[in-house]
Amino acid sequence: MKRILSLPVIILLILFISSSANSQTVDRIYWGADVPEGWNGKWEKKYQTVPEKTEYNRTTSSFQVHEYINMLKWNSENVHVFNMYTSPLRKVCSALVLSEPRITSPEQAERSGKPVIYIQGNIHPPEAEGKEAILMVMRDILLGDKKYLLDNQIIIFCPNFNVDGNDTWRTRDGTPNMIGSRTNSGDFDLNRDAIKLETTELKGLYRTVINRWDPVLFFDAHAMGRVKHGYAICYAGCTVPAAHPGPREYIYKDLFPDVRNAVRDNFGLETFTHCLHDEDNWPPTVWSHENAYWSTEAKFAANAYGLRNRMSILVETAGYPPFERKIYAQYAYITELLEYTNKHGKEMLEICEAADEDVVKNIREKASSGDLTNFVEGDYESYGKVNIYAYNRNEAEYIPGTSVQRTKPGTADGEPELCSGVEHLTKAVGIKEAIVPAGYLIPAELDFIVEKLRIQGINVDVLDSPVTAHGEEFVIDGIRKRWRDRYNMTILEGNFVRSEGKTFPAGTYRVDMAQPLANLAFYGLEPEVKDNFTGWNILNDYFEKIGLGKRSIIYPVFKYFQIEKR
Ligand SMILES: [Zn+2]
Repeated sequence: MKRILSLPVIILLILFISSSANSQTVDRIYWGADVPEGWNGKWEKKYQTVPEKTEYNRTTSSFQVHEYINMLKWNSENVHVFNMYTSPLRKVCSALVLSEPRITSPEQAERSGKPVIYIQGNIHPPEAEGKEAILMVMRDILLGDKKYLLDNQIIIFCPNFNVDGNDTWRTRDGTPNMIGSRTNSGDFDLNRDAIKLETTELKGLYRTVINRWDPVLFFDAHAMGRVKHGYAICYAGCTVPAAHPGPREYIYKDLFPDVRNAVRDNFGLETFTHCLHDEDNWPPTVWSHENAYWSTEAKFAANAYGLRNRMSILVETAGYPPFERKIYAQYAYITELLEYTNKHGKEMLEICEAADEDVVKNIREKASSGDLTNFVEGDYESYGKVNIYAYNRNEAEYIPGTSVQRTKPGTADGEPELCSGVEHLTKAVGIKEAIVPAGYLIPAELDFIVEKLRIQGINVDVLDSPVTAHGEEFVIDGIRKRWRDRYNMTILEGNFVRSEGKTFPAGTYRVDMAQPLANLAFYGLEPEVKDNFTGWNILNDYFEKIGLGKRSIIYPVFKYFQIEKR
């Protein structure tokens, strides 16, 4: 049947078509390996990324990342590049500041009043799609139709955070067919190093980005393996219970639902919290952060970042689909995230600044009486029951005539099942508390701990004359080893006892907790936190030196409630 469109309908249609050129509204969900035709736009060869030039068979080398950055610099006035660190293998990790007008220093950024957003890819090079998506998003902003994303924000991009790992090539089944290593050249996993700070890479991140530019949001791109959930990409925020609840609850309650809807509406992708379901049951019963190796511990960069009263997000694509699909998922999420921060950045900044003030005010008002507490351990509770998309089977098989594996057809493709009544175990709660002191006193010989605190940006001063302190100290009766996520960690056994009138000589280090990074200092120095300096075995030699193993000893960092000069 023919239909004649009325004039008002035609005008509406024209309006819709012209606006959809920018907003890319889609009317279906893309499942499995699917992506929309032509999703990356039409770009001349000189602007194309390595995956685009190779039918998504290759990922960008560290050298090619620099070539791409060079191309952006020659074609835009809105770029400033700085060296985040030079790697143990003498490769430079570049970060790019995108802003309108161009700015080249944190002081200029501060004067602009705009929030700084930090977007990082490739901390784990086998998860290379974040790196590739970042290169494309920068191109959209600088050379395409997304320049307005710089109206209300300054964006720092680091596409290739683990430069040495990126170029440790090996073959890989599927696409890309060559990939880097998860760890850096010293075999350290950079996403376990946010508190213990053993690597050049993390130290560079703190020194040149975090402490200098103070981003309101930290974003870290990852991928999982052969998961059985049905989501293109999954997200988590900081879930360390010791972190101020203002910024971290905003991410879960305000930002995540909005960005989720926008990614569905504009890119046709289903996304949800970074979890895995219980794979022993079908249909599944729980959807839990812990199952996906996300935890309430701060060893992960995005979790540690929340201890600074700032916001953070980690995302993970499913690992088994083709490279193009995984890049599309990262591209969709990063684009919609930056749309959100462009609109809401000021509100996010205000929440973070209020948290800074709140932390300092609480210390000033309550710490001298020993009435202030914070959490040293956490767990997840349910937000309630949800429906999740999941596949019953996701299997690998060899492609006939080759020695290359693929996803077995008929498993994990097409629309997944919608499973109802699944517990959503992502609400972080504290399960053990300790008293937050007015300050910590650290003996001079523990300068290696002080160095780590200072790299994190925590103010540590040195006593110029002896003091008398009243507070509490931890008596260590023994240590226990705990195997957790491939690491042999230390747990202290003992108790706090009150201590009155203990004297400390000039030269002792002091952390005055009346500072915005108090929660981060608390996390690092408390003897009962399981993945801080103690947990990562950094103090074990010292414990042994002062007699542990033969008798009970006093944990060397003193917690004072009051202090007076002698
Ligand atoms: Zn990862």
